Amino acid sequence: MKFLSFIEQAMPRLGLLTEDDTVIDLTAMLAASPDHRLPFMPANVSELIALGEPGMRAVSACLDRHLDAGQSGLKLADVQIAAPLLMKKNVFCVGRNYRDHIIEGNLARGRPADQFPTAIEFFTKPPTAVVGHLAKVRRHADLTDSLDYEAELAIVIGRRGCDISRDAALDHVFGYTIVNDITARDLQQRHGQWFKGKGLDTSCPMGPVVVHRSAIPNANDLAISLTVNGELRQSDNTASMIFDVPAIIEQLSAGMTLEPGDVIATGTPKGVGFAMTPPVCLQPGDVVSATVQHIGTLTNTLSKE
Ligand code: MG
Repeated sequence: MKFLSFIEQAMPRLGLLTEDDTVIDLTAMLAASPDHRLPFMPANVSELIALGEPGMRAVSACLDRHLDAGQSGLKLADVQIAAPLLMKKNVFCVGRNYRDHIIEGNLARGRPADQFPTAIEFFTKPPTAVVGHLAKVRRHADLTDSLDYEAELAIVIGRRGCDISRDAALDHVFGYTIVNDITARDLQQRHGQWFKGKGLDTSCPMGPVVVHRSAIPNANDLAISLTVNGELRQSDNTASMIFDVPAIIEQLSAGMTLEPGDVIATGTPKGVGFAMTPPVCLQPGDVVSATVQHIGTLTNTLSKE
């Protein structure tokens, strides 16, 4: 199942995206079926995750009745999509995780090509950075002249846990989405730690949907790609990660509780702008589309101001 958050008549809504690009308004559907006894009506994907298994059971039961009754939904093109998750905490991110991207970064920085991390490099992006599909990414021209893109598979946590073992890791996953880890390369370099260069407002496009884990047979075998104005820049498979999804959950949750609704971006493949010869930055009006197999395509435009 593909879940999304959208706005209908200025109100937040939880939706289900069907295979024929129809959006079913789950918030309205659940409100019309009061027999499920949920403590509250979910109005976005974060609230559905917070409801846990009872929420998913209620959605499945209502959906069966809805489809049996032959009821239709909204056309995706007519729907105003929001960021799928209402983040209360920073988005966790993994740096340097794809082998070829590490090599291109090492070469661009004049380091030996084969210097690979032995432990996962974590950083975060604040909730104020998160925007949804089709939202404008701010240029921040007074701060940076080197905005870059990074297509990433992102894990969405569904069950709370600390010290999660590799074997139990996938039991804590609700599903997966896409993140574009927009980075100001000059700020990333200037400030030493990556947080400032990766934390600007609108620098974390996310979505368009969260796909339930039951619809992703293997998160470590997904095609991932990114285009700028239709030109292919990144193309790889999540199988190229050095640290796979269970390893990321195991290492991040060691001594640190992960909670439902937490998001972990898992790193980006080769093909980022700063490692091109010569380096290339995003330009005002550029249209950036990140695609992950079985999830969809996240598209955003760099604003002209
Ligand atoms: Mg990244």
